[in-house]
Amino acid sequence: MSSFAGRMKEYPNMSLDRFDRENLHARAYFLSHCHKDHMKGLKGPLLKRKLKFSLTVKLYCSFVTKELLLSNPKYAFWEDHIVALELESPTLITLIDEASGEREELVVTLLPAGHCPGSVMFLVEGAQGTVLYTGDFRLAKGDASRIEPLHSGSRVKDIKSVYLDSTFYDPRFYQIPSRETCLHAIQGLVQDWVSRSVYHTVWLNCKAAYGYEYLFTNLGDEFHTQIHVNSLDMFKKMPEILSHVTTDRASQIHACRHPKGEEFVAACRLPCGSSSSDGTPLNIISIKPSTMWFGERTQRTKVIVRTGASSYRACFSFHSSYSEIKDFLSYLQPVNIYPSVVPIGRTHADVSQLLKSMCRDVSSSAVVYRPLGALKRTRPEQQTHGEDLEEEERGGEERDLEEEERGGEERDEGSVSNSGPPPRWEEFFTTEILTDSQPNSCSHTSPSHSTLTGSQTPELFVDDFVKLPSPSISLSAGRGPSQADGMLIQSEDRCQGDALTNLDAGGEECGSHTHQSEPTESQLSSDFDIPSTPDSHRPGPDELSDLYRRLAAGEEVVTRTGSQSL
Ligand SMILES: [Zn+2]
Ligand SMILES: [Zn+2]
Repeated sequence: MSSFAGRMKEYPNMSLDRFDRENLHARAYFLSHCHKDHMKGLKGPLLKRKLKFSLTVKLYCSFVTKELLLSNPKYAFWEDHIVALELESPTLITLIDEASGEREELVVTLLPAGHCPGSVMFLVEGAQGTVLYTGDFRLAKGDASRIEPLHSGSRVKDIKSVYLDSTFYDPRFYQIPSRETCLHAIQGLVQDWVSRSVYHTVWLNCKAAYGYEYLFTNLGDEFHTQIHVNSLDMFKKMPEILSHVTTDRASQIHACRHPKGEEFVAACRLPCGSSSSDGTPLNIISIKPSTMWFGERTQRTKVIVRTGASSYRACFSFHSSYSEIKDFLSYLQPVNIYPSVVPIGRTHADVSQLLKSMCRDVSSSAVVYRPLGALKRTRPEQQTHGEDLEEEERGGEERDLEEEERGGEERDEGSVSNSGPPPRWEEFFTTEILTDSQPNSCSHTSPSHSTLTGSQTPELFVDDFVKLPSPSISLSAGRGPSQADGMLIQSEDRCQGDALTNLDAGGEECGSHTHQSEPTESQLSSDFDIPSTPDSHRPGPDELSDLYRRLAAGEEVVTRTGSQSL
């Protein structure tokens, strides 16, 4: 649920995905996709009034978003003020202050967001730098490298700020199975059920929002059928989707909603009230696509979990997972990251803190050596062995930087973890088996794992009620990194997840940094035990004090002995 207030620090004259309050004064509006939490104020009377008297204010979005928006008559007044833009096609947009005539030019590029039909990210380039507003997004690992407008030649653009969909930026959602993996699991379950008889019917218990069309179109293709939905109006101009949905209730696969929005479905009754033509009772299973629910499991689960006699949860996400977001950010290396969403059960401070390690100034300090020289010996208790080695290599610099950079390094450990392998889930979990005793009761479950100590119902995690072919894809089989798609790895708490990652990375790449114990006297003195330069000697106390005196007086201190310099 986006809590983005609508304006970016760099370009406050444009408003994105918020249309109320101070956004009423914006010179241009941008809509990333048609989900309500991104449309606050969009049909408000104040904005409507503003449009009436404005010649220049426009709403920019994708062509699909425009269609979806205008399919709802409440937004019809926008029709003459919408400018639909092509994907990945940079467009010069001039923001004009209608009172003063002041102008500001920006180049805006729509990028695919992979969230729902029409969803885009906005890349904005102008005098205040390049910024990216992601809206809601789900990009798989490596996707960012394939988005051309994020690059300038072969390099990634210098991105100042990312306004981020941080819905699952939480180690509980370390990895979410890919859309394909989830789809195949659902297809398997549907296949097994609908092939039993024409009276066996599936109800997809989807929220009333865009984003499940991927499921509808693929299931429709697979089973050569159309999915029953309440209305086709919004898809009128989208043949790809339209051909896979129907208002004919005779379908064996339904995604219709109850008029009152009730989620409960009786075993022989669909939300649309459809029944078999000959009066034979229908056998109905419900499949509820969920992500949050899976993130709350404290035990490894399958992609599909049976939650009741005829109800299932299927993992399905249209937001990027924790590791997908990390991959995205470590590729872009923005200077600033502003979370637009606070993950459930977390605070804004939590997510901001976690994101700090992904900002460029922090990660780049990983390669900045710390100053050293003799002065460090005045505070030996703060040095680690590994630091000594680095500092010897680079020689002394201003000591004033030391504390600042030391703080940086502690955060670096988080960035180092990016390159480490994903945590082994076995180390994440308690052996306690978590189950739910009531179907569908899970949506009310507290997100806090500490409260998840429900009764153990052995049948919950097994699919023995109906014999399924293999709709459930085990998350435990390891097949190397690519297997990550099939896994939903959760941790009991976020810190644990990061800690494990850090350990892995530390063990392989920066073992010396993980050496935290204070150096002993012998370790300190060992700094002097490096081989001497030929023909040189270790200065005695008298020579040193003379040297310091000359340095303080600003005298030349270079002495020459043959070809050697001191
Ligand atoms: Zn959304
Ligand atoms: Zn129906």
